[in-house]
Amino acid sequence: MGMIVYGWGDVVKHKQIMGYQWCQSCGSFAPRYLSKLVFRVHISYIPVFMKTKGYFIACKSCEAGKEITKQEFKALKELYKPMTKSMTKKCFKELQGLCAGAADNSEASVSLIFNNIASRYPVAANNALTGEYRQLITDLIGERIERQRALKQQQQQFAQQQAAMNPQIANQQI
Ligand SMILES: [Zn+2]
Repeated sequence: MGMIVYGWGDVVKHKQIMGYQWCQSCGSFAPRYLSKLVFRVHISYIPVFMKTKGYFIACKSCEAGKEITKQEFKALKELYKPMTKSMTKKCFKELQGLCAGAADNSEASVSLIFNNIASRYPVAANNALTGEYRQLITDLIGERIERQRALKQQQQQFAQQQAAMNPQIANQQI
């Protein structure tokens, strides 16, 4: 005896990847998508009715995002199309490696890394993609420098606390 399962609800459909971006909401580099919010009715898991309720730019990891119009959605989808999901993921991994070796996020450093990946990925296909990837490179380097600075500060504070607690060791070190 088969049972008919009837259900409905809203689902987020991630339609086109835009790239990885620093997300304030989840505090990490996460893929950002052009997404649709769809109301769906299904019978035995087969959709029988669907209606788009809205268009969004959303973080894949925490779903934080902003609403856009249908026109904006269509225009952006066209602009971001050259970079597929698998290309975006592969490119992000390469960028993490390249950015780990960069001394700073100056214009020159960012351009050097951008030109490097642009020789293998269509990130220079239009202004939207160029802007997206230059920003990602800037943020990847910036975040790494900030993380290293915070770690160094922690280590210094720890050393100072140790010295204050144990003046003899501090004297010996001097
Ligand atoms: Zn997020």
